[in-house]
Amino acid sequence: MLTSAMGALVLRDAPGDAAPLAEQAPAILRDRRLWILSAGSTLYVATQVSLTGFVVLFLHDQRGLSMGEAAAVLAAAQAIAITLRIGAGRWSDRAHARIGPLRRLGFAITAAVALSAALVSAPLVVLVPSLVVAAALAMSWNGLAFTAAAELAGRARSGTALGFQQTSLSIAGTVAPIAFAAVVDAASWRTGFAVAAVLPLGGAAALAEAQRVAARDDAAVRALTRLDELYAIGSTRAGYSAEENAAHELAARWMREAGLDVGRDDAGNLFGRRGAARLWSGSHLDTVPNGGRFDGALGVVAAIEAAGRLRDTELGVVAFRAEETGAMGSRRLAELPDAFVEVHIEQGPVLERLGEPLGIVTGIAGQARGTVTFEGRAAHAGTTPIEERADALVEAAKFVLHVRESARHDGLATVGALEVVPGATNVVPERVTVSVDARAPTADGLEKLIESIAFEPSWRQDPIVMGGPPLEALRAVLPGAPELVSGAGHDAMVLAAAGVPTAMLFVRSLNGGASHSPDELSSAEDIALAVDALTEALALVEANRLSALPEHERP
Ligand SMILES: [Zn+2]
Repeated sequence: MLTSAMGALVLRDAPGDAAPLAEQAPAILRDRRLWILSAGSTLYVATQVSLTGFVVLFLHDQRGLSMGEAAAVLAAAQAIAITLRIGAGRWSDRAHARIGPLRRLGFAITAAVALSAALVSAPLVVLVPSLVVAAALAMSWNGLAFTAAAELAGRARSGTALGFQQTSLSIAGTVAPIAFAAVVDAASWRTGFAVAAVLPLGGAAALAEAQRVAARDDAAVRALTRLDELYAIGSTRAGYSAEENAAHELAARWMREAGLDVGRDDAGNLFGRRGAARLWSGSHLDTVPNGGRFDGALGVVAAIEAAGRLRDTELGVVAFRAEETGAMGSRRLAELPDAFVEVHIEQGPVLERLGEPLGIVTGIAGQARGTVTFEGRAAHAGTTPIEERADALVEAAKFVLHVRESARHDGLATVGALEVVPGATNVVPERVTVSVDARAPTADGLEKLIESIAFEPSWRQDPIVMGGPPLEALRAVLPGAPELVSGAGHDAMVLAAAGVPTAMLFVRSLNGGASHSPDELSSAEDIALAVDALTEALALVEANRLSALPEHERP
């Protein structure tokens, strides 16, 4: 307890984070990284305390050394540990990551303690050096653990994080000697040392997990920062505008940082490639007028993040041009990949309602658009009796309700635009043209919807079914994830329609699924999960793709 208090006092939080401990505590207690780190640290400290606490007793009682000689062994170990702590600190400074050296040191402790356990009955000239090294390594671990905790917690909360960690160490320091003594009592000194040697392996696993969680948090923070940078260019980034160009420049820089070779095609689509890059992931960087932070941009940022993690995988990241104005970029691709995966926000409320962070898109609804015109007779608004009118707008209004009723069962249908002629306040409408947008998940459903609305589509896009290795990979990576059909079109739809095996991963849209507006929102946690899933799915698709190739075509 004293060490925890000292840890918190000596290493006070960085200036600028003036919140008192009581206010910070909930946030720290929610920080999974620190729990994992503390659990790992605790296992190491249990080893250290058991070993150093009992080594004098063991040498004196069991191996016949005088108290002075046994204490000298411990002092020698301490002297080495001091040198190691300073040296290890410098080493980890150069390594820029404290966890890695810490884990390697953990494995060294395991090896040294296990060796001592094996040598319990060996001659003292062999046993004592082994014990000195084991104890020295175990004692030097704590100094590194301090810096690891500080780094994981980040500058702002480092002091309180250390207090938290030191508390768990203090508990270990109290419990471990009792447990060690009980094991020695019940079995033997050798068993006691052997158990102590196993503990750091659990610690190493915990530290690896802490590092993984920290890397994921970093990825989410970086993704959000990048989405902010793109948004700072403008909330309106129309296709082929200066704003979209600037967004592509920014993405090109991130692609280079992720180790990708940057290029563009004739349509202006941006590519970051590594190797042959037969597998692509990406989305678009243009927006609707006054759009949100996440639509399209998230898919590009997530793909760059995945490419940065899969440094040995040949893949391509793509930012398509002008998706919002008819997928102008993806429709003009000069070449097609072997497979494509797109991450996109859901832009709807389904995942939020289900309480699920991610969803797998199994298809994109088919769409049909057209217009219906109603003819009437223009007449004076003040002199023509109601029963003698042929009011085109009244007929159109009945039709709008009919469209809505038709779409109640399978699909969606919308009247979004009306053209009223002559469109004057005091004239009974002569002609009204009504737009119809009908969508359904299956070709059959779309056909029925068109029939029941009774309109002649001037444009239609058949439903797209996702499939092949990308969909299989997402299902393997996210077992049990909800599967849904996208009502909105995406670049993925264009690629799938062109015959590319394609899949999409939806990220939960918060704010009731708000999209195409500044209210678009997805959480850092969900984005982190999406980047993880995308990375794993891409790795899986590429591994399966390569294994399916004939031997001589594999790189
Ligand atoms: Zn989009």
